[in-house]
Amino acid sequence: MIEWLGIPHAKNSRYLLLDRDGVLNVNRPDYVKSFAEILFYQDALEALKLLKRIDTGVILVSNQSGINRGLIHWDDFWEMHEGVIRQVEAYGGSILAAFYCPHRPDERCDCRKPSPVMIRAACRFAGIDAEQTFFIGDHESDMKAAENAGCPSIRICRSDAPQTNICNSGAPYFETLLDAVLSICGESI
Ligand SMILES: [Zn+2]
Repeated sequence: MIEWLGIPHAKNSRYLLLDRDGVLNVNRPDYVKSFAEILFYQDALEALKLLKRIDTGVILVSNQSGINRGLIHWDDFWEMHEGVIRQVEAYGGSILAAFYCPHRPDERCDCRKPSPVMIRAACRFAGIDAEQTFFIGDHESDMKAAENAGCPSIRICRSDAPQTNICNSGAPYFETLLDAVLSICGESI
């Protein structure tokens, strides 16, 4: 598990855990491999700006098996990570921390979602209970990871997502991250 931990100035009022590819930015069947391939959803940037305004700490929890598949170079991975943080900040949002699994499924690591290990690490870092923290993702493995960690979950089902990503699990789902965030935080806005 790769951890990037920001330095919190103070405890946030609440926290939200987010998957990255397919939630913040457009996913690709051949993996998002460099910052040049990060194409943000406009609603996601709006959602992150709103989350900062209502004092919600955002933590990314993302499988990045492209690294150990040899498709994503380490330099590109960190440039991509830093680019995402910078672009979110430039738009008025903020990302507090990020947890990534670099492993391939056949490596049978303990961190790759649907394992709850990265979600638990994120909750420990922020000092929060999984039971009271939403995880928002777009894949079945995200929903399973949330379930395994004891988190409530929301699924993003974008109309431009691949057909293999069919939303038939029991989790509530929304078309955009902004819609999902409004549904959770509506009373705070
Ligand atoms: Zn792993």
